[in-house]
Amino acid sequence: MNQLNKILVLNAGSSTLKYKLFNATNANKTLALAPMISGMVEIGEVSKVTHKSHGENPKKMELPDANLNDHRSALSLVIDLLCDPGFGGLASKSEINAIGHRVVHGAERFKNATLITKDLMAALEASIPLAPLHNPANILGIEVATELLGDACPQVAVFDTAYHSTMPASAYLYGLPYHLYKDHGVRRYGFHGTSHSFVAKKAAKHLGKPLEECNFITCHLGNGASITAIKNGKSIDTSMGLTPLEGLVMGTRSGDIDPAIPTFLNKQTGMSYAEIDSMLNKKSGLLGLSGDADIRNLQDRFRAGDKHADLTLEVFAHRVRKYIGAYLIQLSPRLDGIIFTGGIGENSWILRNKILKDLEHVGIVVDKSKNEVDLTSQIMSVESSKSQVPLLVVQTDEEKSIAEQTFQVVQG
Ligand code: ADP
Repeated sequence: MNQLNKILVLNAGSSTLKYKLFNATNANKTLALAPMISGMVEIGEVSKVTHKSHGENPKKMELPDANLNDHRSALSLVIDLLCDPGFGGLASKSEINAIGHRVVHGAERFKNATLITKDLMAALEASIPLAPLHNPANILGIEVATELLGDACPQVAVFDTAYHSTMPASAYLYGLPYHLYKDHGVRRYGFHGTSHSFVAKKAAKHLGKPLEECNFITCHLGNGASITAIKNGKSIDTSMGLTPLEGLVMGTRSGDIDPAIPTFLNKQTGMSYAEIDSMLNKKSGLLGLSGDADIRNLQDRFRAGDKHADLTLEVFAHRVRKYIGAYLIQLSPRLDGIIFTGGIGENSWILRNKILKDLEHVGIVVDKSKNEVDLTSQIMSVESSKSQVPLLVVQTDEEKSIAEQTFQVVQG
């Protein structure tokens, strides 16, 4: 590979295709990635495209009724849009030097971003039972990209699970018959790894310490939410498990529940296991508790004096606090920072206040005047001068991290 200038990042979900094109420059061995164009296609009978350019004169365009029924037509349109001279993108699709794909589940095999080959595709197919909601769409995204851009364009899989491959067996094994792990891969894998590692790296740089010497608790709080204990720069435990359903209370996912609940509901209500699974993933969490999955609506209701909205926010905060407490012990004897990221972590100071309240006895003290502001830079500190632990709000950028890893894999 001579020159790697244009890197396209694709995140293919079951009903969305998100994309971001970067211009890469590598002067003096320092990689700089400038976002050029990004957008999202909502695939389906009622499809919609949002497409925007970055840089000096950013432009935005919406195609509300694009009639894109499948991933192939979605990516085909994306490639046309990337080559639209009005948006200052590419002269032709052959300018795309590499593609980085977000792949949700890499099972135990993939511990790093990996060049996509036939062998890797076969391994992804084999891991579908572990991620039936996510991996099929990721596979489709890779197949369609190969079809439309040809074999000459290298493609890289960047796995959500990879960063957590350093967890010790004591953290990833469940208290289940051991043969279920050996025969069926039933264990904790963890997700959001790209975001947890990205913000940890940013925080270490901000604190002026090598990442390998940092112990962090990273809270990725978005629609999907997870929390990770990072020791000496490596993930040693995380709240999501075999699937992204375990752990924190999320937008529509329950997070941790008593494992006896599905059997109880099946017996008591006659709900099938498929219905219970769908309820736990799509109708629970903040939505199930309050009717609202969006924290912004819950905050509005809370400000208007809605006690149930307040209770829902308290349930969310309580679960995050429980994990912070547990990880504080696991990271003993030192914690170098608690990091908040994701749509909620970056923007909801109401939740950050609820999560961080009354922790002076463990050296964690938030400064409300620093915390109760909008995040206007990539990183901000919100701890009081009395706090022994830095408290950081860090903007995540999973696409940039995927582009970075793609560059590294392709350049060897
Ligand atoms: P995901 O990538 O998992 O879909 P995001 O990281 O985009 O999710 O986070 C979405 C969540 O962030 C939603 O619950 C939304 O309410 C919340 N959020 C976004 N902006 C704000 C804001 N300004 N204040 C409070 N919450 C916000």
